[in-house]
Amino acid sequence: MRSELQRSEKMHVLGQLAATIAHEIRNPLTVTHGFIQLLRSRSKNETDLNYLTMALEELRRTETIISDYLTYSKPHTEPMGSMNVKEQIHNVASMMEAYVVSHGHAMVVQAEDALYVLAEPKTFAQALIHFIKNAVEAMNPGGRLAITAYKHKDQVVIQLEDNGCGMSEEQIRRLGNPFYSTKERGTGLGLMVSYRIIEAMRGNVSVRSEIGKGTAFTITLPSTSYE
Ligand code: ADP
Ligand code: MG
Repeated sequence: MRSELQRSEKMHVLGQLAATIAHEIRNPLTVTHGFIQLLRSRSKNETDLNYLTMALEELRRTETIISDYLTYSKPHTEPMGSMNVKEQIHNVASMMEAYVVSHGHAMVVQAEDALYVLAEPKTFAQALIHFIKNAVEAMNPGGRLAITAYKHKDQVVIQLEDNGCGMSEEQIRRLGNPFYSTKERGTGLGLMVSYRIIEAMRGNVSVRSEIGKGTAFTITLPSTSYE
């Protein structure tokens, strides 16, 4: 109980700090990006071109870290309201379709009608996007990601199941900790952000995974009636 409280206090401080830093860093980053692009377009020297391309790649990585953080820590900009889960899952799926297909995977969505939860739609979408990205990154080309949504008692259940590399017990235990990543270029912030978003919606995330077989994330959220 006590350690839970301390953890959430720590996360709060971390979030505040992140918000300030992220806002301050974004503008100079954009300016730097622009100048480097300009230099690259003018450069005729192959070594310079390589260096400038590497610099741009690193800048893009920095931007990814910041955008993961910003979502988590930015002040709430839209009101919580009754959200149509099926509609929003389909919105996210069509937004991510090109990304999934370009990696050689298929995404199948099956959602019941008349599922409603209290949510900020954009924030909820952000949480789903992190799960989808991770699934895409976990699968070999030809993978299949199934997203299902249904009602169980007074809960809305959303499941994301992939047939990717899967995780060990130890990996599962560390999920959601900031900066935990097994990827060479990972930020280890995606799931922390998603977990915080779902927690803020009074929901819960559980994981089932098997090495070499795949992973299923199950999100449960309190169901609300349409208003
Ligand atoms: P990142 O994607 O930057 O590594 P995340 O917080 O999104 O950070 O994920 C943390 C880690 O959790 C990943 O590095 C990966 O090891 C593991 N992971 C998350 N989702 C999956 C998945 N669907 N299949 C296998 N491993 C996963
Ligand atoms: Mg990720």
